Amino acid sequence: MERKNPHIRICKRCKLPYDWRRSPSACMKMTYCGSLCERADLGFTIEGLVNDVVFLPRSAVLKRLLAA
Ligand SMILES: [Zn+2]
Repeated sequence: MERKNPHIRICKRCKLPYDWRRSPSACMKMTYCGSLCERADLGFTIEGLVNDVVFLPRSAVLKRLLAA
């Protein structure tokens, strides 16, 4: 039953099953469920991740939208 979807992979870091086709990870989508796990496993801190990946792009986009 677990194998009914051949695209489901187990994330190397968080051990959760995920569909690799939906992974936002650019180059290691067969290994990690997403860029957070990929970068965390590669040695980035959670704090750096959050600032880098989550908040900065969003606030940059918002600023751009508001300035337009
Ligand atoms: Zn993961």
